[in-house]
Amino acid sequence: MTVHTPNYYDRFRCLAGECPHTCCQGWEVPIDRETARYYETIPGELGERLRALLTTDEEGDTAFLLRGDTCPFLTDEKLCELQIRLGEEGIGEICRSHPRFSYDFGPLTERGLCGSCPETARLILGTDMVLLTTRDEKAGEGSPALLSPLLAARETALELLETPEATLGQRFQATLLFANEVQVALDEGREEDIPQLCQIYGEEFPLLDPAALPDRREALMRCLGALEGLEILSDTWRALLARGKQELARGQAFSILEETQIRRAGRYFLYRHWLRGVWDGDVLTWAEFAALGAAVCVLLSPLQDEGFPEAFRLFCLELEHDQENLNALQDRLREDLSLAEMLAVAGLL
Ligand code: SF4
Repeated sequence: MTVHTPNYYDRFRCLAGECPHTCCQGWEVPIDRETARYYETIPGELGERLRALLTTDEEGDTAFLLRGDTCPFLTDEKLCELQIRLGEEGIGEICRSHPRFSYDFGPLTERGLCGSCPETARLILGTDMVLLTTRDEKAGEGSPALLSPLLAARETALELLETPEATLGQRFQATLLFANEVQVALDEGREEDIPQLCQIYGEEFPLLDPAALPDRREALMRCLGALEGLEILSDTWRALLARGKQELARGQAFSILEETQIRRAGRYFLYRHWLRGVWDGDVLTWAEFAALGAAVCVLLSPLQDEGFPEAFRLFCLELEHDQENLNALQDRLREDLSLAEMLAVAGLL
């Protein structure tokens, strides 16, 4: 089995009590079956409290009853009481793995850090990502048909975002144009053409006439409308989206202050999501997601005190931890927001 991890992966250390946010707040804390069974064996006051706080949610999954919107085992010092008293095995699988992700593609596993935590956001935006390849003993399953062509295509997409002689906006646009051609090949069952597309885009950088595209601000406004239509976790995000729309309507200058961080954010989105196309044959919406995410974070950066990293963290928190939100946004990108609009949005960068 081959395993990919970004070079910053092992540098993550939870900020625990020093964290300006906490991931133990604002959403359900699911408890896997094995951990729930372990909680049945805990004696004394802690065991009784654990069992009293376990509940079954609407989907039939086991989770803790929250205190307000907070995990009941988060201490006043913002530490995990269960980890302190029971060690690693005292916390559920989700809490042990967060904020990491791991996706299996048959003989390949890809791991990474989610951008939704302040420390992971710092690592993702502060590091030029290099993918490290290791092999482990586990036998992988058979290789999905699209794995090899889409891995090669993702490599090309990631490289297009690095093209030094192009502006940032042109790089995101080139990634979208490339993803569109890969998508057409996938839709027409011509996967064998993808290596040739990689070669063409590796040699020639495509440039667009901006005059041929729709109004960039209107396109971004429609993206914000799509985000507002999703399930929203925090009032902060809702308020930021509303302010973003106001600023766009006022014609506020769109300033690119953190070019390196924006590029790294784009590469993070592509790394994390592009290969999902192995399972559903869709890569274009993930390239669009990367451009949309980068543009929205740039717009929202000056609207709160912590700049681009916090806008990026909030975007990841709201979108990437909610599969229903991801699905709904993909649907909007497929059915409602055109490629021309997304090229226009990328042109803002
Ligand atoms: S958000 Fe990140 S740094 Fe903060 S408590 Fe959670 S994992 Fe730790």
